Amino acid sequence: DQTDAMVGIERRGAACQNWPPGNAIGEVRDRQHAKGLRLVFPQNKGALLNRRWTFAQGSLRAASIVILCSGDPTMERTFSIIKPDATERNLTGAVNKVFEDGGLRIVAQRRIRMTEEQAKRFYEVHAERPFYGELVEFMTSGPVVVQVLEGEDAVAKHRELMGATNPAEAADGTVRKLYARSIGENSCHGSDSEENAAIEIAQFFSLADIVG
Ligand code: UDP
Ligand code: MG
Repeated sequence: DQTDAMVGIERRGAACQNWPPGNAIGEVRDRQHAKGLRLVFPQNKGALLNRRWTFAQGSLRAASIVILCSGDPTMERTFSIIKPDATERNLTGAVNKVFEDGGLRIVAQRRIRMTEEQAKRFYEVHAERPFYGELVEFMTSGPVVVQVLEGEDAVAKHRELMGATNPAEAADGTVRKLYARSIGENSCHGSDSEENAAIEIAQFFSLADIVG
């Protein structure tokens, strides 16, 4: 129970701003280390980072914490990746223009080369799917741009601006309709829920990297 953990905090309306002491309002989501442990929050937000967390079934030190809620409860954050097929064609700015014109704000952004370990972990949910190996290979084949986007209904808005997974089914004006090469090399990733956004943001950014 000394394991490091990534902790994503779900946005739950008022509970998020008040941090009721002793109330379990989140769960540790790190699938490898701490599946299903219930998290007990500390007294105040300032105590959130680099402290020992107490859980119903043990204790863990949090390596990284991402807080999705801001003072404005209508604001949401989501995680985005501009994939290697897009960076290869120098389309970072073009993809960002779709997001920004669509009302999202880029509040964190970094260009990286994903390691195989990072890509495997990131797409763990697809481990049993037939395209998993190919997907990991593609995501590590060139640079990607990882981002945190903020806005009203950011998760749903971002997915709308990306378009359907298969570019043949994507609506006009979406990133995938405009730029994707195929269902696999489809130019962008976006979280599919607030909960997954918290998990994914925590894999690539710390709180200090995100400036809203
Ligand atoms: N993918 C693929 N073949 C498929 C389905 C998905 O190569 O038949 C890849 C594609 O890059 C996609 C990613 O796997 O973006 C994740 O799949 P998901 O179903 O989560 O689609 P998304 O959420 O990205 O639209
Ligand atoms: Mg997905």
